[in-house]
Amino acid sequence: MARKHGRDVRLVHPAHTTVDCARCGARTKHALPLSERTCTCTLCGAVSPRDKNSAGVMLVRAGLNPAGVDRGRPDVPPGRRAA
Ligand SMILES: [Zn+2]
Repeated sequence: MARKHGRDVRLVHPAHTTVDCARCGARTKHALPLSERTCTCTLCGAVSPRDKNSAGVMLVRAGLNPAGVDRGRPDVPPGRRAA
């Protein structure tokens, strides 16, 4: 179906997309309760609606760069810059 329509399908492992940070890839220790709609990264401080964060994680896993959607994504994560 995807080939027929010229689409590029990428399979993404869905696990942990809600606990990984879309910006720096850090994984929070505990999944947020569903009542908590905003995800704040303890490492880089990125704050985003949890669904949007999950979508960003999936884009990164698919090899896509979500930059330009609603946030920038530096090539080198903060704190991991080579000296
Ligand atoms: Zn982060």
